[in-house]
Amino acid sequence: MVDTHCHFDMMPAPEAYIAKMEAEGNLVIGVTNCPEHFNIGYNAVCKYRHIRLALGFHPLLAKEIEDQLNLFQLYVDKTSYIGEIGLDFSREGILSKHTQLDCLHSILTCLKDKNKIISVHSRNAERELLDILVEYNIKNVIFHWYTGKLSVMPEIIQKGYYFSVNEAMTRSVSGKKIIEHIPLDRILTETDAPFNRKCDLLKTYQYLAGIGCSKQKIYSNFTDILKRLDTSLKRG
Ligand SMILES: [Zn+2]
Repeated sequence: MVDTHCHFDMMPAPEAYIAKMEAEGNLVIGVTNCPEHFNIGYNAVCKYRHIRLALGFHPLLAKEIEDQLNLFQLYVDKTSYIGEIGLDFSREGILSKHTQLDCLHSILTCLKDKNKIISVHSRNAERELLDILVEYNIKNVIFHWYTGKLSVMPEIIQKGYYFSVNEAMTRSVSGKKIIEHIPLDRILTETDAPFNRKCDLLKTYQYLAGIGCSKQKIYSNFTDILKRLDTSLKRG
């Protein structure tokens, strides 16, 4: 199974978790919330064959971690995986809107012309985020746990981007509606563990199989993106 968005660095026993996922043959992208966390985990994750660590800069932490933007630049070439980055204009994030935008512009300037897989957070800012990603010509973007308007989705799809879905989405009316609107060749899966308690991958796969999206299809969607990465960094 494929988990393109997991915060295993925030779990009580990350090593035990990733060792178990690796032993089961799952492919996991561990996202981080700030460059310092990426740096702490990087060496520990390198030895795994199916586990990767993404360099992140969480929009809700923008004010606290603004001074880590230089670290983002410093580490960006160590990995092909970026996340979690993005924008959050919900009530929780709206006060830091301008800092979030400033940080995102620096991050995307740094990612422009690089081939990475990028997991994005877009709560209440789907349209703004999409426009900025397009402005910087960013490729291989995965909209993680999309909760935005259905009307923005066709453009996200038209730009070649993906959506990662989790069990919580398969259990809510609005989540199911969103899943219905994703073409089968753009569906990926995620847990968003440990924050998301409805994060059973197997149940997510069962639900998706029920709407005609097989396990093989999800795997091939993921390998399609992997093929676009710089071969020199495929392991990183
Ligand atoms: Zn997350």
